[in-house]
Amino acid sequence: MYIDILRNLIKCKSVTPNSDGAIEYCSELLNNWGFSSKIYKHGLVSNLYAKYDIGSNKNICIAGHIDVVPPIGNWKYNPWELTEDNGKLYGRGTNDMKGPLSVALAAIYDYINNNPKSNIIVLLTSDEEIMTDNGMKSLVKEVVNNGKHIDYCILCESCSKGNSGEYIKIGCKGSLNVDLISYGEQCHVASGNNNHINEFVSLLNDLVNTPLDNGNERFEKSIINITSIDTGNDIRNIVPFSVHAKLNIRFNDNWNHDSLEQYILSKLNNNIKYKFQRFGYQFIGASIEYQNKLKYIIEQTINKPVEIGTYGGNSDALSLHEITEVVEIGTPLAQAHTVDEYIIISDMKKLYKIYKAILENL
Ligand SMILES: [Zn+2]
Repeated sequence: MYIDILRNLIKCKSVTPNSDGAIEYCSELLNNWGFSSKIYKHGLVSNLYAKYDIGSNKNICIAGHIDVVPPIGNWKYNPWELTEDNGKLYGRGTNDMKGPLSVALAAIYDYINNNPKSNIIVLLTSDEEIMTDNGMKSLVKEVVNNGKHIDYCILCESCSKGNSGEYIKIGCKGSLNVDLISYGEQCHVASGNNNHINEFVSLLNDLVNTPLDNGNERFEKSIINITSIDTGNDIRNIVPFSVHAKLNIRFNDNWNHDSLEQYILSKLNNNIKYKFQRFGYQFIGASIEYQNKLKYIIEQTINKPVEIGTYGGNSDALSLHEITEVVEIGTPLAQAHTVDEYIIISDMKKLYKIYKAILENL
């Protein structure tokens, strides 16, 4: 069943934030299974709220996104048609995250047809890859405004540090983008004048090589990365008057946006202009109890050790953790957004068992 669902989802050219019928397809599927669902449109974004209500006090939520990044690069396979080759299924979104979503939907079908004990809520969006306020964030608002509650949430994301299903992502580091522009005097490179670019490079080295912290039991250490250094200069004998560096900082709970910005400012001289762009903040979305429960369920199901951590970037868990306990369990992050994106067919079977066991045992 999950392969048929995936085949239908891959056909939708749902390049973020477009649904191209994918949200509508999921809504119809769930309605046929007895869910009642509603699609919320915000500009180009489509969001789905669906509930299978057996009158239980407990609401378990499966959440995800149906949007994908564009299939750029040289593909061997048609990105919009599910193609099987040597034990793998190819297509844009097979890994992130139409594949694990299809599996979770099939597990839901099985669960609700075998004496379910909890209500099931499905939350889907079409804007995770750009994550504006119109996607999961607005859907979460709808949930709160309508007085609905969710006890436990599983985001079936492309999030695994290693193999599919063997990693429970419980939160995320915060993110801060930094632009630094150094200004100096333009001169002939042979003139022997002070070169502000040399000084600027030393500063960048200092920023990158000075440890921000050592991490802690919840998070890995905070890291500064340079993503661009640019002068726009092609002329070999000119020292240009400006150089622009872009940095990104992924930080743990030893820091917040304010303290990091203060830290960066303390390193700058007057010739350097700066701009900060705050992105996600750090959080842990699951209690120790929820983490351990899931770890136990998965290890019992697949007979393999399961790791818990905060590896990877931001996802819709950022919005979801404000209203519920949430973790991410799914496919390997390293295979997301690639050319010839794929999911291993045996991994789908493994994830199916995992999602089903979670629904049955939460
Ligand atoms: Zn994703």
